[in-house]
Amino acid sequence: MKVELQNLTKIFPSRNKKSGGEVTAVNDFTFTIPDGKLVGLLGPSGCGKSTTLYMISGLQKPSSGKIFFGDEDVTELSPENRGVGLVFQNYALYPHLTVKQNIMFPLQNLRGADKLSKQEMQERALEAAKLVQIDELMDRKPSELSGGQQQRVAIARALVKMPRVLLLDEPLSNLDARLRLQTREEIRRIQKETGITTVFVTHDQEEAMSISDMIVVMKLGVLQQIGKPQDIYDDPTNLFVAKFLGTPPINVFNGKVENGTLYIGSDAVLEVGGVSDQPVWVGIRPEGFTPDDNGALVCKLNNVEVMGRDVSVVSTHEASANPIVRSIVNADNKIDVTAENIKYSLKPHKVFIFNKETEERIYFEVK
Ligand code: ADP
Ligand code: MG
Repeated sequence: MKVELQNLTKIFPSRNKKSGGEVTAVNDFTFTIPDGKLVGLLGPSGCGKSTTLYMISGLQKPSSGKIFFGDEDVTELSPENRGVGLVFQNYALYPHLTVKQNIMFPLQNLRGADKLSKQEMQERALEAAKLVQIDELMDRKPSELSGGQQQRVAIARALVKMPRVLLLDEPLSNLDARLRLQTREEIRRIQKETGITTVFVTHDQEEAMSISDMIVVMKLGVLQQIGKPQDIYDDPTNLFVAKFLGTPPINVFNGKVENGTLYIGSDAVLEVGGVSDQPVWVGIRPEGFTPDDNGALVCKLNNVEVMGRDVSVVSTHEASANPIVRSIVNADNKIDVTAENIKYSLKPHKVFIFNKETEERIYFEVK
């Protein structure tokens, strides 16, 4: 089921009459979630991810704008009539019901033509439980399950009505690191198996990158960029997106363009065609540095961290916007760890420049 948001906006009235000021939690969102895809809604806390999800589910009404499922306008439709499955951050299982009863619960309210017999409900619950691999635990109570198992029950409960759209709000944040990894792979598997269009909310860029077909990056209620994870990483539209995606994070420097040359401090690091003279932010991905005795970027070497195949080189530069510059280079590079400085040449496609004020990307021609 394709999901389309058109100029979707949510304004919350001020909670405090005196201080005034409403909150625009979601500001004029227009995008399409393709049928059968998993889309990651990504952004820092408070950027409007949950609000967007709740509007898609029908739990919250938009202040303006429209939502379509396929060709159907569902903006005025109640949550029960939208055919969505919702999983919250805290799984909110009924503690006094067994796993089976928890999963069957949404089916018990079905009325009219949709009404199921007890037998049918049990079959559907078992099917959903098998999908998330908890069919052995059907008679347990939630308190007798691990965090990961509880979250699977919550996912099974969201799937049991065979929703048109599956909505997951930070579903992994209560799990420990190992379970988080395992459960996110599980969610990806289930999504692929069922082909249900899924929206996955997270503030964790690595999580979003690893399982999404498409990522929507948000900041303070405003959409920043939409695209495939790799495309956004390789081609960020502004400094915020460049900084938000990637581990280790991108290195940012104060720089300037003068006569077609990009400077970091006084180092002339790259020829950049088609850019007028101006101060800029320079972003360089950790993998964008090549140790090179003739390299133009000269950094003070702090230390070299061995990681096996690669090494992580920690240095400083007076024009760096961060306390350290971190580069990831192939371990075949023999780095003299006793040297005072390390010189780098740069891979042009790993270097991004941004307007100093608007922080929007400035595109340049590689010479
Ligand atoms: P996220 O899920 O990305 O952390 P939310 O969608 O929960 O962000 O919130 C977005 C913004 O809207 C925040 O500034 C939050 O304080 C505000 N907000 C969310 N729900 C309400 C509400 N019911 N009333 C007033 N403000 C709200
Ligand atoms: Mg949230």
